[in-house]
Amino acid sequence: MTTCISLYLHIPFCLTRCSYCAFNTYTGQMALIPTYVEMLRRELSFAASHLPAHHVINTIYFGGGTPSLLPVQAVATILNHCATAFAWLSEVEITFEINPGTIDAHYLATLRQTGVNRISIGMQSAHDAELALIARRHSIADVQHTVQAARTAGFDSLSLDLIYGIPRQTSPMWRQSLETAITLNPDHLSLYSLSVENATPLEHQIARGTLPMPDDDQAADMIEWATARLDQAGFQQYEISNWAKPGFACQHNVHVWRNLPYLGIGAGAHGCAAGVRYANVLHPTDYITRLQEAPESDAARPFPLTPAADEIEQLGDADIMSDTMILGLRLTQEGIAAGDFHARFGRDLWAIYGAELDRLIAQGLLERITTSDPTQDRVRLTPRGRLLGNHVFAAFV
Ligand code: SF4
Repeated sequence: MTTCISLYLHIPFCLTRCSYCAFNTYTGQMALIPTYVEMLRRELSFAASHLPAHHVINTIYFGGGTPSLLPVQAVATILNHCATAFAWLSEVEITFEINPGTIDAHYLATLRQTGVNRISIGMQSAHDAELALIARRHSIADVQHTVQAARTAGFDSLSLDLIYGIPRQTSPMWRQSLETAITLNPDHLSLYSLSVENATPLEHQIARGTLPMPDDDQAADMIEWATARLDQAGFQQYEISNWAKPGFACQHNVHVWRNLPYLGIGAGAHGCAAGVRYANVLHPTDYITRLQEAPESDAARPFPLTPAADEIEQLGDADIMSDTMILGLRLTQEGIAAGDFHARFGRDLWAIYGAELDRLIAQGLLERITTSDPTQDRVRLTPRGRLLGNHVFAAFV
């Protein structure tokens, strides 16, 4: 029996830092890129050398940071290396995050030839003033050019990211952003609520009073309106923050939300497989040093760890069941199937979590979908539960 495993590759470089950003990314470090790419290859080799038999790659995701700062030749080199180091499924989803304004039509055309078949574009807003307020580098014209060039290059799976709940954002402004995104005809949309993270420029602006705190109630109204509008536009919500046209859900993220194994490659990347959750060392220079100093033969290190692994947590069955609930309930259509749970853990879902499930169903936050085949019964969030996801997930920690 084969086991599908996904690869996440982190590219921790950005030209400038957006005011809300708390991701593991660095500015002014572009000179590291050639060595970093070489070390990604080295880490992939370490990971592949320990991979148990019958594991095949089903998805690859280049995230950041700004993957579109990589030269296309570097992307080709990484993917060629993946193809020789790992066994692949016949059709592998390969997603690449793009920041508008960082690349041109030629870049996209050559990127498509490397095998990348899905792109995710950080649109964020349709208003230049709003983009400037959160210190994004691009304009709405850059988004339009990037989408057009991506379609011309042959990308037939295209996603746009939008942010709602931005300080001073009004409901009409949000509606216009979403309408503009729909007009660009994406196959997939991710809508993220702006969160004010510690030690970001945005947090300082709010603390100083130069920007107002985002209004949670208004943000909830915005996402309720967006959910209805996207339904009308032919998108299905399949995860709390994600909508897709039929057949265009992001397979990589669905795999992770099903709590299936994935490897995190690169500085600060997270992975989880074989009962081990880990995070790689954060800074790209530390990452490079770790990989450069690692001995060629690293047989003592157990799968899935590589020399870059920094935080390592061994997971017991209770941890894995908890993660399966918290991640799986994010999938708003699929939820958690009792039969899948039993097949994976040999335990009855209701015997383990009956009290929590009954309480959340009584509160109207979860619903139980029953069928003629009890193994297909499932629990999932109700529309109200989608707005109160963190409250639901807390029950399974
Ligand atoms: S482009 Fe993304 S990763 Fe880079 S600074 Fe902006 S939000 Fe952070």
